[in-house]
Amino acid sequence: MKIGIDLGTCNSLVFLPKKGVVLQEPSIVAVDIQDNRILAVGKEAKEMLGKTPDTIRVFRPLKDGAIANFRITLAMIRYFINKVSGPLHFLKPEVVIGVPTGITSTEKRAVIEAGIGAGAKNVYLAKTPILAALGAGIPIESPSGNMVVDIGGGMAEAAVISLGGIVYSRSTRIGGDKLDAAIAEYIKKKYNLFIGDQTAEEIKIKIGTAILEKEPKVMEFRGRDLISGLPKNIKISSNEVCEAIKDYLSEIAQLVKEVLRETPPELAADIMEKGIILTGGTSLLRNFPQFLSKSLGVPTILVEEPLLAVAKGTGVILENLDLYRKLLMIKK
Ligand code: ADP
Ligand code: MG
Repeated sequence: MKIGIDLGTCNSLVFLPKKGVVLQEPSIVAVDIQDNRILAVGKEAKEMLGKTPDTIRVFRPLKDGAIANFRITLAMIRYFINKVSGPLHFLKPEVVIGVPTGITSTEKRAVIEAGIGAGAKNVYLAKTPILAALGAGIPIESPSGNMVVDIGGGMAEAAVISLGGIVYSRSTRIGGDKLDAAIAEYIKKKYNLFIGDQTAEEIKIKIGTAILEKEPKVMEFRGRDLISGLPKNIKISSNEVCEAIKDYLSEIAQLVKEVLRETPPELAADIMEKGIILTGGTSLLRNFPQFLSKSLGVPTILVEEPLLAVAKGTGVILENLDLYRKLLMIKK
């Protein structure tokens, strides 16, 4: 049995050969703080957000792209493996897990140990940009430059790939979470209104835009008035959202620019010609590919199903383990 896992800061996905992406759940865990018991994982835990008594804590164990809480992460991986293993669960699976390029060796070891602890026979680690590229159907082995920019919840990673390896990469802890926080902050300052992370995310997904619009979209939402303390409805326009998040978007563009600058000229020419490949949920922000293209003067391509790219990439590796073995970090 073989299983691929994209352990994202926001969403975790599981890929099974011949079946595809069989699980897509939030990377969220609910814990009873009195006895440290894990009460729920994934969707079920997310539903508990904001509705729990003092004794229950609901959180994301991978918040900044690394394992912030080892035991909880292990439980989460085990939950995902068990959920998809079905009746063959006594056979220990081979597991491929995607990890960020900037991960330290201690963090690598933690992910591998967590996978083994969760019941894997072998754990193979692969870098997210490689997986994202494979998932997008890019022939990474070719002697031609490809740039992948993956922007998730906790981070943005930009990498240049050629001949099956990463030539240069950079990452930043700016992703969808920071955009949500910036929207909440903007609304607090401008309207004296408090909104939670989930409302901010909803506004971002529904009307958020990376470029100012001639005919902005408008959305009504509810927050808590900071003066009266009571619920209040207000309307916000997509251009206000753009204003709120523009500094972070510029920082992401800057990161990509720096990677382009460090790219050998031959590979940079390939990238100019083919375009930058965009993956990860935050790439879905309206007008983001156009924004990035305009700031860099390089074409961009949003892959089909950006949220699934990394998980699909684990599938490509699982189906050709021998071919890709050299790309993997392994522990038996
Ligand atoms: P991770 O790899 O960190 O788990 P994902 O690639 O799953 O992250 O992306 C999750 C992020 O993408 C979240 O911040 C979410 O709000 C954002 N996102 C998802 N869909 C959209 C959308 N349509 N517009 C803007 N942001 C989106
Ligand atoms: Mg991701």
